Amino acid sequence: MAKKTSSGKSPRYDRNAKLEEVMTGTTVFNVPFPKDLSVLKEMSPIVVKYPYSVEYIHSYGQDSPFFAGLANKKLLGTRCPRCKYTYATPRLACTHCGAETDWVELPQQGRVHTFTTCYFGSEEFLKETPFHLVLVEFDGADTLLLARLIGVAGPEDIEIGMKVRAKFRRNSQFKPTDVYFVPA
Ligand SMILES: [Zn+2]
Repeated sequence: MAKKTSSGKSPRYDRNAKLEEVMTGTTVFNVPFPKDLSVLKEMSPIVVKYPYSVEYIHSYGQDSPFFAGLANKKLLGTRCPRCKYTYATPRLACTHCGAETDWVELPQQGRVHTFTTCYFGSEEFLKETPFHLVLVEFDGADTLLLARLIGVAGPEDIEIGMKVRAKFRRNSQFKPTDVYFVPA
């Protein structure tokens, strides 16, 4: 006797029902599969690639003037009105005395305080490796600015104390990489 539903009718099934095939995304052909499941732990990881995007609203807050400066080919730092400590990487509050700092324009020429060559990097910068990062010291500033140095063939061409000059991307991305340095 056929099974009845709660409404008293016979259930109607489609035993050949099938989800529609999806024609986007990743199609993988011929993933080898062993008879002996114990070798599965030796299997190479399956790696897929797909587009991914998010819209992210980020406020630059009190750092906004620094990026407005870069967009206008100006390098801005901050200076404490009380103890005169000057930050080449701007801080809105003095780490020495706590006072609110003021914006000041930094010179666009400085010296290499130290440097490193990166042969590996985060996803955004990986394709640009190897690249050189320098900590730049400026007359009249007490802290350093981290930036990229280009225009040298290799790390052997970089020297501590060498003069470098700031350059700015013409199309500002509002990123710290809008400013970079070349030998002066
Ligand atoms: Zn201070």
